[in-house]
Amino acid sequence: MKKKIYAYRQVGMALCFVLILCGCQSHQGHQFYVNSRIMMGTIVEVTSPDKRAAGIAFSEIKRIEDLLSKYKEDSEVSRLNKLGKSVVSPETFYILKKSKEFWQLSNGAFDVTVAPLVDLWGFTNRNFTVPADEKIKNILNLVGSDKILLHNNENVIKFKFPGMKIDLGAIAKGYALDCAVKKLKEKGINSCLINAGGQVYCLGKKFGRPWRVAIRGPRGKGVVSFLELADQSVATSGDYEQYFIKNNKRYAHILDPKTGYPADSGIMAVTVIAPDGLTSDTLATAIFVLGKDKGERLAKRFKGVEVKIYAQDSL
Ligand code: FAD
Ligand code: MG
Repeated sequence: MKKKIYAYRQVGMALCFVLILCGCQSHQGHQFYVNSRIMMGTIVEVTSPDKRAAGIAFSEIKRIEDLLSKYKEDSEVSRLNKLGKSVVSPETFYILKKSKEFWQLSNGAFDVTVAPLVDLWGFTNRNFTVPADEKIKNILNLVGSDKILLHNNENVIKFKFPGMKIDLGAIAKGYALDCAVKKLKEKGINSCLINAGGQVYCLGKKFGRPWRVAIRGPRGKGVVSFLELADQSVATSGDYEQYFIKNNKRYAHILDPKTGYPADSGIMAVTVIAPDGLTSDTLATAIFVLGKDKGERLAKRFKGVEVKIYAQDSL
């Protein structure tokens, strides 16, 4: 009898947050604008009292997506993945530098070279499958951010081995929102909330008070708490957004670069609050792979970072 694979993916809800503000056009007599658009494979929603904010944020996020998306054939990341060596823009070079830094700091738990593994498990094209051990072992030779060679002077990036690929899915959403916030500030906008499929940045305050963001628990637990945020980013990484079930076993999209299998650290979801999006996004994935103890130790090394971990045994 053919075994069924049950696959799950919820676009735009990639974390345990529901923005209570959604759909409200005015609040206590204060007018604000809510706009959303599909970008980076998810729903990006911009809320601000300034009606210019959405246009500015969307165009900056699109600029970053065009540079860093593995799904866009003419992006710098796709060119690098195809050629194995490429001159890139200072921005792409910066992101790879940061990716290597987080690889080091997380002792290899955060690793953008997992891309061939993400493809192998079918998380890129949704053709989910449990690969043979042999196949995983072969691909593991291509994994390890130490195999990304950065030539500073010419902004050249080179992969050590043919067949290597990178996937910036765990860092570029946070970075894209940081770039959008920088642009908003340059235009004199200092109050805005951007939510990109659960990667959230709260710029300034909302009419003098911190932005209020609701946390929805994993496994459909409903709203479990609220956050009050101002000039802060929050991100969640979890096993209940992109996963499939086979023979009653759950396989989720965050992979352990050391085993080549979905991370199995006992964590269901981890929420990170940080001063910037790049840090919250990256740390959330790294901690999910590392597990509670090592993850919390890593988080302590960062200023202004708070972590909330939902462990499987907390159900
Ligand atoms: P995170 O935990 O932040 O990231 C998990 C993702 O990172 C995984 O899905 C995998 O891609 C990768 N990853 C897995 N394990 C590791 C690891 N150990 N270390 C580092 N990275 C790891 N999705 C679409 O369906 N279509 C699109 O066109 C599309 N375009 C995108 C463009 C950009 C620029 C970005 C940043 C993302 C895009 N995505 C798209 C979504 C993307 O593929 C991921 O699904 C998403 O970024 C996951 O974010 P998350 O916060 O849920 O999980
Ligand atoms: Mg993320």
